[in-house]
Amino acid sequence: MAELNPFKISQIQLDEAVGVLGLDKGTHELLRWPMREFRFTLPVKMDTGETRVFHGYRVQYNGARGPTKGGLRWHPDETIDTVRALAAWMTWKTAVVDIPLGGGKGGVTCNPKEMSDGEKERLARAYIRAAAPHLAVDRDVPAPDVYTTPQIMAWMMDEYETIAGHKHPGMITGKPIPLGGSQGRGDATARGGVYTVREAAKVLNIDAAKATYAVQGFGNAGQFGASLHQEILGGGTLVAISDSGGGVMSKSGIDPQKAIHHKLETGRVAGLPGTTPISNEDLLELDVDVLYPSALENVITGDNAGKIKAKISCELANGPTTPEADKILFEKGVFVIPDFLANAGGVTVSYFEQVQNTYNYYWTLDDIHSQLDRKMTDAFQAVYAMSKKEKVHMRLAAYLVSVSRVAEACKLRGWV
Ligand code: GLU
Repeated sequence: MAELNPFKISQIQLDEAVGVLGLDKGTHELLRWPMREFRFTLPVKMDTGETRVFHGYRVQYNGARGPTKGGLRWHPDETIDTVRALAAWMTWKTAVVDIPLGGGKGGVTCNPKEMSDGEKERLARAYIRAAAPHLAVDRDVPAPDVYTTPQIMAWMMDEYETIAGHKHPGMITGKPIPLGGSQGRGDATARGGVYTVREAAKVLNIDAAKATYAVQGFGNAGQFGASLHQEILGGGTLVAISDSGGGVMSKSGIDPQKAIHHKLETGRVAGLPGTTPISNEDLLELDVDVLYPSALENVITGDNAGKIKAKISCELANGPTTPEADKILFEKGVFVIPDFLANAGGVTVSYFEQVQNTYNYYWTLDDIHSQLDRKMTDAFQAVYAMSKKEKVHMRLAAYLVSVSRVAEACKLRGWV
């Protein structure tokens, strides 16, 4: 279905922004396509002794503003088109928070939930052996994403340094802290998102400390989002959470820490004591102040957008809302904090990590939080001002801010 192909969606979103900005044809065409893309065939010895062949990708979408940057996603549904879309969104993401990086993304089609640690390590090392010639701190820098972890980043850095014969901590981010990782990287995506909710609540006159909220997707971003919402905003009632195995709700409130503990113990949110079951679909349609879509693409579409009741949708996931749904939400007055603004905290702290690796001097957690807050608040304000000026929804406004920055860099380089 064309409507649900993430790369097509990213192109439709770009086309609309280019139309408003009135960019020339050459610039438009350049920004519609990845500058470079790689496909890797990765043979990995499994614990059974047999060899399995995995397919991996890396897309360097646009490097006009700096080295390409973006995560590596390991997921059974990964395709070249999901990676292309995610790489495009990384380009707009680094631009909206105004850090000197381009956008890229990688992926491997696999199911890490069915792999042992040894198999994951061999896959991580195989990926780097294939991709190493195209990666470097001044070329293209991976990071964690769905189902990849600091441990996987550590194996990847080790493989890269073994090939290179010397140290290169800045070639990958999201590393464990003892190996050059940054303070505050673990919860940075969710933290940045909650900072933007704080700013949105101010402009919408919502009392954030009394807000009700629901979290769809209970992985890294969703779990931290659930607890940071209360910590940063000074309160709020978490009424529902879900993961790929279904959801749970409680009108009187779910304790985020208990939910995280339950997920850690059982692998799912289902069965959390004191809650009743709810489906992922019904969770999205709950009457809450803030909804955090925190899983995968295309969960809010033309089919269910009319039923969304949240006042704010803070997209910790990449690509949760289709263009058709965006129009419906805008007409209904749902205030969407678009993915590449809402979840830019992760790459922002990745950038801080690279800076610290290059300096070989490390910042405190307080430094990271205050710098991240400033970046996210500035980005929110720039996008919000654009949405008011052009009378457009926040996603289109974010595109207008980012695409004009990337287009300017392309022009200054003489590419267009
Ligand atoms: N994977 C994260 C994202 O989608 C972080 C990327 C990074 O840190 O480079 O933004």
